[in-house]
Amino acid sequence: MKRFAGLCLICTLALSLTGCFSVQDPNAAHESIQVIAMDTPMVFTAYGEKSTKSVYAAEEEIRRLEALLSRTEADSAVSRLNLGETVTVEPEIWAMLDSARRYADMTGGAFDITVAPIVSAWGFTTDSFQVPEQAEIDRLLQTVGNDHIHAQETPEGVAVTLDAGTQIDLGGIAKGYAADRTADIYREYAIPRGLARLGGNVLAWGDKPDGSAWRIGIQDPKRADLGDSGLAGVLEMKNAFAVTSGGYQRFFEAEGKTYHHIIDPATGAPSDSGLTSVTVIASADPGNSTMCDALSTALFVMGEEQALDFWRSSGLEFELVLITADDRVVVTSGAAEDFELDTSSGYAYETVS
Ligand code: AMP
Ligand code: MG
Repeated sequence: MKRFAGLCLICTLALSLTGCFSVQDPNAAHESIQVIAMDTPMVFTAYGEKSTKSVYAAEEEIRRLEALLSRTEADSAVSRLNLGETVTVEPEIWAMLDSARRYADMTGGAFDITVAPIVSAWGFTTDSFQVPEQAEIDRLLQTVGNDHIHAQETPEGVAVTLDAGTQIDLGGIAKGYAADRTADIYREYAIPRGLARLGGNVLAWGDKPDGSAWRIGIQDPKRADLGDSGLAGVLEMKNAFAVTSGGYQRFFEAEGKTYHHIIDPATGAPSDSGLTSVTVIASADPGNSTMCDALSTALFVMGEEQALDFWRSSGLEFELVLITADDRVVVTSGAAEDFELDTSSGYAYETVS
């Protein structure tokens, strides 16, 4: 009996020691912070020894980007360009402008940062929403297009000038770029696993502590007011980015009609392509979150058929979850295994290859 009690004590000690060790286990320590930046609620979670340092470094980086890419802060490079100045931009901004130009080319102009004056005319820059006159939209459409952005290499850097009236808005890729930078920071701090949510932009870094995939809800656009209680489905993700663009994310109503924030650069009006949400998924490799963000906006504008053609032919590696206005969820073959439909949504489910 005495021996048995001794064994129990050893077991208890061993268990508590294991408990101690598991606290020091780099995978068990974790930190999570909530931040509001870029007009968006964000959550940064990281595991590992440097989890605290890494999430605060991510916050600092997001605040730096918020100021750097702002359209409303008077002396940001973007604001100065939009006022008509020639600006020798930092290499980082030039890299973003250049990749925005490339995504505009690739998507036939469905993603186009020069749509800025039209986004403003609808009031989305200042929250003073209005339906602009068609004559004003027609006038502003003249200022839209890659060919209105001019760049010249100089010994000091790349000097950028916009044609008169042309303005740029990096809102369609800013959060995607910020999620790319978050992944860079998690890599630098050797974070084994973590999760970052920047509004509709998600980074699933590594896997969950139990080795399973992170589970990310995809909002049902028809039940957006219910948040996590109104999902179209759940996506399982490991080491991946996912970015969702949806008309439900920002919109206003006027005279019984709803107008959302994603503008079709061909018409100058909120796109009306039959899609209510586009999620683009890609591996967590550098630059892929910016790609997902540009494509989520572009494919939302393109509509289902063109989006799927682009998925098949672009040569870029990504997968899609599309939600249509006629109540279907369409998932590309590479994501089908990772997606689970929420049957309470009532959507029909299709996979495509
Ligand atoms: P997202 O939420 O990533 O789809 O981006 C939408 C934001 O990008 C809008 O709030 C505008 O600031 C800007 N935007 C709207 N339409 C476009 C477009 N067709 N191409 C590029 N940016 C756009
Ligand atoms: Mg986007």
